[in-house]
Amino acid sequence: MLSLDEALARLAAGASAARIAEVETVSTFDALGRVLAADVTSAIDVPPADNTSMDGYALRAADAATPDAVLPVVQRIAAGHVGEPLAPGSAARIFTGAPIPPGADAVVMQELVDAVDGGGIRVREAPRPGQWIRRRGEDVHAGAAVLAAGTRMTPQALGLAATVGAATLVVVRRARVALFSTGDELIMPGAVAPPDLPPGAIYNSNRYTLRGLLQATGCEVSDLGIVPDRLDATRDALREAARAHDLILTSGGVSVGEEDHIRPAVAAEGRVELWQVAMKPGKPLAFGAVRRRAGDARRGEALFLGLPGNPVSSFVTFVLAVRTVLNALQGADTALPAALPMIAGFDWPKPDRRREFLRVRLGGDGRLELFGNQSSGVLTSVVWADGIVDNPPGQAIRAGDRVRYLPLSTLVNG
Ligand code: AMP
Ligand code: MG
Repeated sequence: MLSLDEALARLAAGASAARIAEVETVSTFDALGRVLAADVTSAIDVPPADNTSMDGYALRAADAATPDAVLPVVQRIAAGHVGEPLAPGSAARIFTGAPIPPGADAVVMQELVDAVDGGGIRVREAPRPGQWIRRRGEDVHAGAAVLAAGTRMTPQALGLAATVGAATLVVVRRARVALFSTGDELIMPGAVAPPDLPPGAIYNSNRYTLRGLLQATGCEVSDLGIVPDRLDATRDALREAARAHDLILTSGGVSVGEEDHIRPAVAAEGRVELWQVAMKPGKPLAFGAVRRRAGDARRGEALFLGLPGNPVSSFVTFVLAVRTVLNALQGADTALPAALPMIAGFDWPKPDRRREFLRVRLGGDGRLELFGNQSSGVLTSVVWADGIVDNPPGQAIRAGDRVRYLPLSTLVNG
């Protein structure tokens, strides 16, 4: 058996070797979820000038060093406008975001002054020099790399890129992933109404879950549907999938039973290793590559990753292993997000010898609750859960113990 860390390291290495080299320039508007191919560097200071963080009055702090100083208001500066140099002994009416006029060194909030006859102000308390001024460059210095190559663009990263004036971004081409499910028992929702589901059949849920996970990770997905449990059909599907894709992802058929054709099919069409990963759920995992043929759109080979068929196993292996492969393909960080130390609100007296990933959620008391049925077929558990506990091999848990919690929100979106 392979440890999960070893498996992830091998996946990362294999996928890094097949890293997508093509880049494209996209509008920053359209870059959500894309991975930067180059650093974003700022040509300007942000903010570009000292400016006020309050509506109020800009002045020289020394001119109001004693309480109740009275100053004439000689100019008015709104956001987007530039004032004149401020004469000593005077104040400027100023509004949030407006540049501080030369000569002023503090802003007094409008709530802390009184109007006096003739248009002046009385400053009740002496201001501190620099108060309510946002300094030029306090967010970003000109020349700084604000976003590094390999960053996956979040909404806030889009905003930061825009802050430095980047209208377009150079990003890695999206990963093209072919997805298919194996299993003669599978029926598509819509093909047969629920009351008519034949004996022995189940609906294909992995197709929806895995497709959604791929889309959430910013992939272009080609959905090849259900492939029957036959060697020739599986080989045909693999050849077809390899033509124009970076990665072929399958669910089911990766064990070593008579009905499991994934490993021999990939071996015949390329190369494959079948790993027994010491994790629960999700033990078998197939990793390899499928050769492309003469006449295919691209040369070389497509990476292959075969996930177990059990719905929770395929979900958990996706968020741990497929995520690593997709990030490596795109040059993004492959490390798992840091687990948070959290307090268990449950007992887990009979741990597995393998590293376990328990479906949990944060309760109102701040402790983690455990979903009652941890079977790898119970898909309800991953919808109920907001995270998984990463439990070391053989580690019993008692309520009150500290455990390692991985929020699903950090695992599902790249
Ligand atoms: P397998 O890995 O093919 O041996 O499948 C393991 C279990 O997962 C079996 O109970 C299958 O019926 C189930 N399974 C396989 N593929 C799917 C799928 N696409 N959707 C839902 N369940 C599946
Ligand atoms: Mg099967």
